[in-house]
Order: sequence, then C-alpha cells, then structure tokens
Amino acid sequence: MSKKTQEEILKEELFYAPQNAYYVCDDKEIAKVNKFCEGYIDFLNACRTEREANAFVKELAISKGYKEFNPKGKYKAGDKVYYDVHNKSLILTTFGKKSIAAGTKIVAAHIDSPRLDLKPNPLYEDEELGYFKTHYYGGIKKYQWPTVPLALHGVIYRKDGSCVTVRIGDEAGDPKFVITDLLPHLDREDRSMRKVIAGEALNILIGSRPFGKEKGDKLVKLNLMKLLNEKYGIVESDFLSAELEAVPAFPASDIGFDRSLIGSYGHDDRVCAYPAVMAAFDAKKPEYTTVTVITDKEETGSDGNTGLQSAYLKQFISDLGALEKVPGRDVLRASECLSADVNAGFDPTFSQAFEKNNSAYLNKGIVLTKYTGSGGKGGTNDANAEFVSKIRTIFDKSATVWQVGELGKVDEGGGGTVAKYIANLGVSVVDVGVPVLSMHAPFEIVAKTDVYMAWKGFKAFLESK
Ligand code: MN
Ligand code: MN
Repeated sequence: MSKKTQEEILKEELFYAPQNAYYVCDDKEIAKVNKFCEGYIDFLNACRTEREANAFVKELAISKGYKEFNPKGKYKAGDKVYYDVHNKSLILTTFGKKSIAAGTKIVAAHIDSPRLDLKPNPLYEDEELGYFKTHYYGGIKKYQWPTVPLALHGVIYRKDGSCVTVRIGDEAGDPKFVITDLLPHLDREDRSMRKVIAGEALNILIGSRPFGKEKGDKLVKLNLMKLLNEKYGIVESDFLSAELEAVPAFPASDIGFDRSLIGSYGHDDRVCAYPAVMAAFDAKKPEYTTVTVITDKEETGSDGNTGLQSAYLKQFISDLGALEKVPGRDVLRASECLSADVNAGFDPTFSQAFEKNNSAYLNKGIVLTKYTGSGGKGGTNDANAEFVSKIRTIFDKSATVWQVGELGKVDEGGGGTVAKYIANLGVSVVDVGVPVLSMHAPFEIVAKTDVYMAWKGFKAFLESK
C-alpha cells in the first residue's frame, strides 16, 4: 500500500464519509452478519402479519423467561416482562439496575406492513369467476400488486364467538390467490401511475368452479362458500367479524450472486422489529429499564388502540413508575427512545428523487434520520442536537456502522414514523433504522450488514450507561 498523502490524511480527519460495512468489519464479524440474517429470514417467513409477529415474539419471549407484566408485582434488576396489546402490539421490558426515576430506554418498531385487507363483505361472483373485494392498507403503488401470487392470513370470529385462524398460500401444496391485470395488447391508454390500477380493481381471484352439475345463479360463489364452510366452519356473515389480510406469497430469500441482500415482503418494518427484539433479549442486566415496543398501525397513521397515538405506551410506563411510586410523567421526561423504522435507500436507477449528500446507502449501516415529515419539516419530531450527539457517541463507541439520511429531496414527497407520537409524551426520540430499496413494494430489498448493524446499535443503546 502506498503512503497516504497529507491531503488524504486531512480529508479522513476532517470530512464526513460514512463507510461501507464490508470495509469496516473483519471476516469474523461478516460471518456474524450472515448468521444473524438467517434468523431474520426465518422470522420473515414465519410472520407475515402483525398478529403473527406479535404471537411469534410473545412465545419466544416466554420461552426466554419473560412473564406477563403485573402492575402490582415486585420486580428487581434483570427481571423480564411482556405486555400484550390486543394481540397486535407488544412491549418487552427488562428491569434495570437504576431506579425507574432515571427513565427508560425505549426502542420502538412497527410490525404492520402495507397489504390488501379483505372488505367486511368480500365474497362475490362475476361472470362465473369468484372474487374477494379488498381495501388496501397503507401506502402502496397499486399497479405493483396485480399478477403477484398472494396468500391469505388472519382470523375469523364466527357468530358463536369462536375464532378460526386462516393461513393459506405460503406452504408447498397450498393454493394461492391473485389479482389479474389487463393484457398489453388492450392497454394502450397513457395514464398516471395512480390511475393504472384503481383501488376497486384490486379484486382477488379465488375460484371458477360452479357447485354441482345443474346450471344456475351464483353457483361459483356457492361452491366457494361451501368449501370455506367445510374448511373453516364459517358462513358468509362471519366475514363481518374477520380480519383477513392478503400478502405476497413468495418467501424471503437471499438476493444476488454474493448473497449480500435479502428480498422479502414486509421488511418495513420487521427489519427493525426483529433486531429490536433480539437486542432486547441480548441486553443482559441493563443499567436502565428497557422498553422494546413492536407496534401495529404505523402504516395507517398510528391510530386505533394498538397504534402509538393511543395511550398504551404512556400507560405502561406509568405502571412501571407506579411500582416505585414515581409519577409516569417524570419517567417519560427522563426516557430516551430510538424510533426504529426504515428509511429509503439510495437507488442509483432513481437518483433524481434523492439528494446524494443526505441519503442513506445500502451497506453503510443504520441510518439516523434527524427529522422526517414533508413541506418544510411539517409533521415531524426533529430530534434535538443534544440527543443526537448522545446517540452518535453510543454508536461510535460500540463500532456500529451508521450514517445520516433524509427521506428523499426537499419537497419531493415525505413520510413519517412513530417518532413524533413518542416525542409528544416528553421522551427524547430520534429515528434510526435500516435503508430499504423498493419500500412498500410486494418485494423489498435490504442489505444484510445493515440488518446486523441495527441489532448492534439497538443493543448498545439498551446497554448504555
Ligand atoms: Mn415503517
Ligand atoms: Mn412504511
């Protein structure tokens, strides 16, 4: 290697230049990256919806000694509890050595992803083909969803109150479902991206065989309803009390000859939820009480009693405070939070949407996003410099590879996370997460090193003194 010039030495010292993790990590650490991501791929394939992620993590936590939180309980440093929020959001807590008055360390990610929900009365027949009507959930480019194999996940509550779980389309041998598209030969009209496929055209094809041999009206629908009755014990009105979600039916997989990337449905935001949960498990005997939140409803604005605009986090932290007779507001004011959510990775094919100096790049580690929002920082938690300073020190000390990034060019668009809702409680918050390509598409891309760095960074934060 040739000797560095004075200019090169000075540049290294003075310029901000985030590094590619492959230049920073030794081969031993890259082996850890790959191992960690094997677990993440299994998680992605096991959990296609927020309910499934909630159940999976809860079961895993119980197997690791977590007990259901008891507001009247007595806890000591190192004790582990979980707090379930209507089967869709979950909090994991490890009690710290310090008093709760010192505040908590919160990592909050979301486990809902954009998808197609069935309407309350979804089943119909048109020209002897059977369909489900859908209402899309979250921000999608609707044209991406036709001609993609779909699976169906969720729950149906029958008239008598009993529940049946639905999970069909992912296992070998399962039938799949699909939304059709118009052939190119008959589709010559120019139209904007938003008009290529209308919301009411997202109809899922589910069958074509009529019941019996006698011709008649709605016999395809009848045959489908009969099959559903046999398989799930339901009648048509039971759809009214169901939550059925159509999600892409292809599994997560390595992408690229070098296997450095992962393609999957639902990286946003399970790519932060999984490292957050693993960091919670791995942070042993933390100084501060840790609060790991995996929440529902982020993609639709965090409303509803399982979203972070509701009171559940505030109430849980108040309950933690009450154990030591510390007012909840004092605990919140002293608490710090990483809002763990994805950001857009710089995509060279669509460079026009990004500002190069303030974009997140794949393999350059987790992205610290000081503010989100749109239109002149509208609707954002803009993390204060004091707190950002604290977090960057934690990342640097733990050799976590990280970078800063904004969501695209100024006035190009924008988006939000749960950060502002947690900030509204008085907590210090900043967004930290994994850069993603093709965000909100049926098949999103992340880099393995960034997934691992999320775990490393979250763990360092939870263990910070
Ligand atoms: Mn997200
Ligand atoms: Mn999202």
